[in-house]
Amino acid sequence: MTDTIGTDRRTGVVVDAEELVRDHPPAETGAVAFLGAQFDRGLAWVHFPTGRGGRGLPQGRQADVDRVLRASGAPDAFLRNPIGHGMAAPTVVVHGSDRLQERLLRPLFTGEELWAQLFSEPGAGSDLAGLATRAEWDGRVWRVTGQKVWTSLAQHARWALLVARTDPDVPKHKGLTYFVVDLHHPGVDVRPLRQLTGDAEFNEVYLDDVEIDDGWRLGEVGDGWRVAMTTLMSERKALGGRSSARGDGTIGDALRLWAQRPELRTPADEQHLLDLAVRAEAQRLTGWRHGAEQGDAPMGSRGAIDKVVGAELNQAVYDFCMRVLGVEATRYTHPGPDDPHTTPPADRSLTWKFLRSRANTIEGGTSEILRNIIGERLLGLPGDVRVDKDVPWRDVPRS
Ligand SMILES: Cc1cc2nc3c(=O)[nH]c(=O)nc-3n(C[C@H](O)[C@H](O)[C@H](O)COP(=O)(O)OP(=O)(O)OC[C@H]3O[C@@H](n4cnc5c(N)ncnc54)[C@H](O)[C@@H]3O)c2cc1C
Repeated sequence: MTDTIGTDRRTGVVVDAEELVRDHPPAETGAVAFLGAQFDRGLAWVHFPTGRGGRGLPQGRQADVDRVLRASGAPDAFLRNPIGHGMAAPTVVVHGSDRLQERLLRPLFTGEELWAQLFSEPGAGSDLAGLATRAEWDGRVWRVTGQKVWTSLAQHARWALLVARTDPDVPKHKGLTYFVVDLHHPGVDVRPLRQLTGDAEFNEVYLDDVEIDDGWRLGEVGDGWRVAMTTLMSERKALGGRSSARGDGTIGDALRLWAQRPELRTPADEQHLLDLAVRAEAQRLTGWRHGAEQGDAPMGSRGAIDKVVGAELNQAVYDFCMRVLGVEATRYTHPGPDDPHTTPPADRSLTWKFLRSRANTIEGGTSEILRNIIGERLLGLPGDVRVDKDVPWRDVPRS
């Protein structure tokens, strides 16, 4: 295999990834065993510390590992546990105690323990800091009561990231605290919600006097907003910036349709497809550059660019596929089973992917909110209007 990036990398993580594949051929090794071996060699996320699935290298090096593993048909840890991999791991490794990191990271990476994210509430989605779920310290444990919504995968997950209000008397960003909650704990009630595709991918989650030991807190009491920022920055990167080969990923679906169905082609559609392919390549290279430039620094607000561009491109690509397929695209039956994360989304029909892509510009932060972030933090434009920023949360009117 040639590596155009340089001998340093060729002799480091790339060689180790090739050795991993040789020692544990993916076709003959179970996914959990393969991913466990990947974690133990520090190739799970190379920028994490040694012993935590990493080896303290710049994050950009992970793409070199992933390229080798993808070519070998290795299992995809992200798809097996998207919230665990994309949001929980980066948060736990920065804000979790040694004990929590030791307990949680390996089974998270292998997919033995799935994760969910208990952030959104009926009255607090984009305005996450306005959330109302309460956590009260009774002198022994935290007691949590409230309602969350749109909680993806909670019906399958063991653990969840939770942000709760611990002080209603201070402004909304200051009275929050961040926890890991065991979804098997008494008082947790998970109720699936069916979405446009017919899948019940997400849920309402009711928390009724759920006990959480203080050892499961991430960050300081009242500092939950800062911890949540780590999660949200990682979420944008995870949702928008996964590395893929040229012509692969979402645009690959449109290119395959075009190649396989010559009878559907028109010159106008061909121009449209080429425009989409140019956008996809620009997005791919921008995401790759963000990863490479990042070094040891967190992704920061640039992840918002990857997320908003990726989400809108996904929708445009599947809009295109639907138009090319015409009436054929409208013949949709729910494919079952209910869990798209254990049935690879890549195997779903184009119509399923079109329906699922409608959520891309909402989940993980809407495109409007991400544009606000890009405007304010990257371009230095004037900030959004925030009338309740300095008002105690208790005094902010709520619907
Ligand atoms: C498929 C899917 C999976 C999800 N999974 C999870 C999950 O696992 N865990 C979780 O916690 N949440 C999850 N969510 C929730 C998601 O994060 C929220 O839906 C999202 O943050 C938007 O919040 P909202 O739905 O309350 O909309 P609202 O905040 O009520 O927004 C409604 C509209 O107003 C716009 N808007 C709001 N404020 C502004 C502003 N200041 N400027 C401009 N426009 C604005 C929004 O962009 C949007 O278009 C999921 C959502 C979806 C669709």
